[in-house]
Amino acid sequence: MSKLLFLLGDQLSRTGPWFDQLNPKTDHILLAEVSHESTKVTSNKVRTTLFLSAMRHFAADLEQKNYRVRYIELDDPNNTQTLEGELQRAIDELSPDEIHIVRPGEDSIRKQLLTFNPIEHEDTHFFTTPADFADHARGRKQLRMEYFYREQRKITGYLMGEDGKPTGGKWNYDHENRSSFDKHGPGLIPPPKIFPPNQITKDIINLVETTFPNHPGDLSTFHWPVTPDQAQQALDDFITNRLPLYGQYQDAMWTDSPWLYHSLISSSLNLKLLDPRDVCLAAIKAYQDGLVPLSATEGFVRQILGWREYVRGLYWLKMPDYLNLNALNAQNDLPKCYWTGKTEFTCLSQAINQTLKFGYAHHIQRLMVTGLFAMMYGVHPKQIHEWYLATYFDAIEWVELPNTTGMSQWADGGIMASKPYAATGKYIQRMSNYCNECPRNPSHRTGPQACPFTTFYWDFLLQHRQTFSTNQRMSLQLRNLDRLEPQEINDIQEEANRFRKTI
Ligand SMILES: Cc1cc2nc3c(=O)[nH]c(=O)nc-3n(C[C@H](O)[C@H](O)[C@H](O)COP(=O)(O)OP(=O)(O)OC[C@H]3O[C@@H](n4cnc5c(N)ncnc54)[C@H](O)[C@@H]3O)c2cc1C
Ligand code: SF4
Repeated sequence: MSKLLFLLGDQLSRTGPWFDQLNPKTDHILLAEVSHESTKVTSNKVRTTLFLSAMRHFAADLEQKNYRVRYIELDDPNNTQTLEGELQRAIDELSPDEIHIVRPGEDSIRKQLLTFNPIEHEDTHFFTTPADFADHARGRKQLRMEYFYREQRKITGYLMGEDGKPTGGKWNYDHENRSSFDKHGPGLIPPPKIFPPNQITKDIINLVETTFPNHPGDLSTFHWPVTPDQAQQALDDFITNRLPLYGQYQDAMWTDSPWLYHSLISSSLNLKLLDPRDVCLAAIKAYQDGLVPLSATEGFVRQILGWREYVRGLYWLKMPDYLNLNALNAQNDLPKCYWTGKTEFTCLSQAINQTLKFGYAHHIQRLMVTGLFAMMYGVHPKQIHEWYLATYFDAIEWVELPNTTGMSQWADGGIMASKPYAATGKYIQRMSNYCNECPRNPSHRTGPQACPFTTFYWDFLLQHRQTFSTNQRMSLQLRNLDRLEPQEINDIQEEANRFRKTI
């Protein structure tokens, strides 16, 4: 009985239980670099390089353990350049009795692979399975992250006292985690650990540069972890040097400071170079050793045990319909500056250029700069979803789609967030120094110094007043609309239309 295990570029676990079922003498593991995965959305060269380099390092590890690896390189002349094409070719050539897969991170890929009648393994690199989340969701009117997270805290025992109460007496220290930097800025933050490319990565960089020359991304600065050992070093470095202030400055932004106190481990978690249990336990140990305050530890654990698991659960619960949701009927095209980085607005310029260059922006830049702008501009949710999926180094549909469509665009009509993250430029002014360096003024909604965030905020409320009229959490924001004179409304709408034509 021979087996063929097909592993994808984000399934690089060295310890998955699926290996227990393989006989290295008779069974094969298939890994395939296919261009379709980089072109179905115009994938950032950083993202493609990261995946392919991590895959080649993984294959080398497997070969060292004497597994029989069928590795298809991107420039192999026989490569069909699609996942299903490569699986079919492997079946034709190896005639396995059984095909094995691990649940893919994208619904459409999963459906394609299931047509081969494989044995599907659940991905064990998460705390929960889609079935666990479906159990949690059953009978609930609302699926708020906070309740799911508390349940997970109780199940794992993470940051829980022996009395069954949360450590420190509170579930959530979010209100302590919203500081911005003072006028002196972030100062000297220990820089993240970086990993200069070895020969394998250099070969991939050349391959990616020649295969996808017009895709965004700057590979001259490529430094992301591509092996479990590097990912562990990056995690250790974060816990020692940046976790203590992570919580406090989690939402802060500053010009030309892409990393700040963030962990930069999302790609390592998503490619399964790190296990989320090890990550949370390392942070909890640092707290128990007195090295990190509870608020920072809880804030970090909440992102991984809470948000990360919650968005995955939601994705599998709601797909495929979630992909087509458009609760606010947004129909505009994505402004060109999202692909070129050319814009006079400092906040957008900072978040977009850093994304195009490194494939990275932190959560608040994604949510409250590029995401917020797209929502208030009225970008069609599919277009903004494809931009996030293409440009970020950590993007895989299960995690990207709910964050974009649900959290940032409110296109799911409130499944994920009880109200849209709508705000004026004042929010960005409070959390960053961007506005100091911008020709616009966040207090102006019309006129030569009008800030597009502020203009679009009022325009957004005017457009969707009816939709939100029964939403209690929007009542204060909507009441402010009643104070506007007809002439002010007219001016705001004209300014918003001007911005839509020129941005
Ligand atoms: C519009 C939008 C799109 C996003 N797309 C992605 C994506 O494609 N891939 C991705 O991994 N994350 C995505 N996120 C979530 C989050 O922004 C990133 O996980 C985070 O910025 C990664 O950087 P970091 O590792 O330095 O995170 P840190 O701030 O250090 O957080 C620690 C870890 O917590 C997890 N995490 C934090 N917030 C979230 C969240 N909302 N959802 C899931 N995990 C979370 C990540 O694994 C992250 O590595 C998106 C958020 C938004 C608003
Ligand atoms: S003034 Fe407006 S556009 Fe300029 S940086 Fe501030 S929020 Fe962004």
